[in-house]
Amino acid sequence: MLDNPPLTNLQTRDIESLLHPYTPIHQLKSTGTVVMGRGKGVYVYDTQGRGYIEGMSGLWCAGLGFGDEEMIEAAIEQMRTLPYYHIFGAKSSEPAIELAEKLKEIAPVPISKVFFTSSGSEANDTQVKLAWYMNNAMGRPNKKKIISRIKAYHGVTVMAASLTGLPSNHNGWDLPVDRVLHTDCPHHYRFGIEGESEAEFTARMAKSLRDLIEREGPDTIAAMIAEPVMGAGGVVIPPKGYYEAIQAVLAEHDIMLIADEVITGFGRTGNWWGSQTLNMRPKTISAAKQLTSAYAPLGAVMVPEDVYQAYVDHSATLGTFAHGFTYGGHPLSCALGVKAIEIYQRRDIIGHVRRLMPVFERRMKKIGEHPLVGEARYCGLVGAAELVADKASKRSFDPRNGVGPKASKLIEENGAILRALGDTIAICPPMIISEAELNELFDRFETGLDQAEAWVS
Ligand code: PLP
Repeated sequence: MLDNPPLTNLQTRDIESLLHPYTPIHQLKSTGTVVMGRGKGVYVYDTQGRGYIEGMSGLWCAGLGFGDEEMIEAAIEQMRTLPYYHIFGAKSSEPAIELAEKLKEIAPVPISKVFFTSSGSEANDTQVKLAWYMNNAMGRPNKKKIISRIKAYHGVTVMAASLTGLPSNHNGWDLPVDRVLHTDCPHHYRFGIEGESEAEFTARMAKSLRDLIEREGPDTIAAMIAEPVMGAGGVVIPPKGYYEAIQAVLAEHDIMLIADEVITGFGRTGNWWGSQTLNMRPKTISAAKQLTSAYAPLGAVMVPEDVYQAYVDHSATLGTFAHGFTYGGHPLSCALGVKAIEIYQRRDIIGHVRRLMPVFERRMKKIGEHPLVGEARYCGLVGAAELVADKASKRSFDPRNGVGPKASKLIEENGAILRALGDTIAICPPMIISEAELNELFDRFETGLDQAEAWVS
């Protein structure tokens, strides 16, 4: 394939009319775009007829793959019955009620109420507002700061982007806003000191969190938010014992833990929730993405009874609980959420993920042996390969060389879509992928890496 083939009509119209998220938009005219036309199973096909294994489930979300007939039927049925209604002002709809009940049933910690949003960013934004609202209700008006982590990804609204701990989400955007603090990223390979064991590293992470809390004043901090496995920050899996250590520090200071399960929810790590896999005991939870397997936009915030009671008390004083989105609890999205969870249960999708995990692990370990790969990390069916200039010293490439994006482009030319997060290549296939398809995906991944190695040298 030529580096810069002539643009098709659709590509030209695209570039003339769309502002593309997370894209080097200054290069678009020469790189063009890939316009996707259709999808079936784990495959997507662009409008020029090329097929790809969607090795990222889109954006870590299409767990049931594409074109699932049951999901399509559920959508059609809901569109015919009630295409839209809201849940403001004590109105409701059956799909929203049913989905909230389902979520309570499968939640990893006791949950009393579910608040619906349209996205993960809105869910995390809502988490912050709710933490503030709760502390106002509890007569703790100064307990408002939120701790997040370097390399965290929590979305792009003003507050969610502030929680995000990536420079590209702050630089040039006048972020983060105040009241947001970032503690260390629990990535032993990258941030461990020479000779430091994982246990020592974990103890250092906990100490650094404690120091931050004591420096700021525990009475000024409402919550800490954490993805069980960090996704867009490079698929960072904290060492064993990390959450136990962190939670002990938070408990000492009455700081609530919020789990951002937007990627890790609904089977991705081999359990319903990443919190279960990573031994997290959050107070509240954000969910989105695989909640509907991305067949329609939906996010959720799940809270326990004592937290809910604080909102009730406060709204009794203020007159109403004044928060909500036009599309929060959208009946189409909620009907698809109900159907997705029913499918996860009936088809034993989590059992399937668990059966595939040894294959995923074996293939990731092999990726880790590749000369370009410094670390291959994985948890359940999500993983990443960090590309380095020198394996022994872990020396990174100069980011200006664009090795990660080049590798992902080469992988794409081999018929697999993975995602470059800087020089880290993420993989997060639809959970319905078969063993043969998974092996094919890894074969294409490896071929692309071989070509990237030849390009680098
Ligand atoms: N939280 C996590 C962990 C995510 O990975 C994402 C998106 O990738 C978000 C929040 C934001 O979700 P959305 O893009 O739906 O706003």
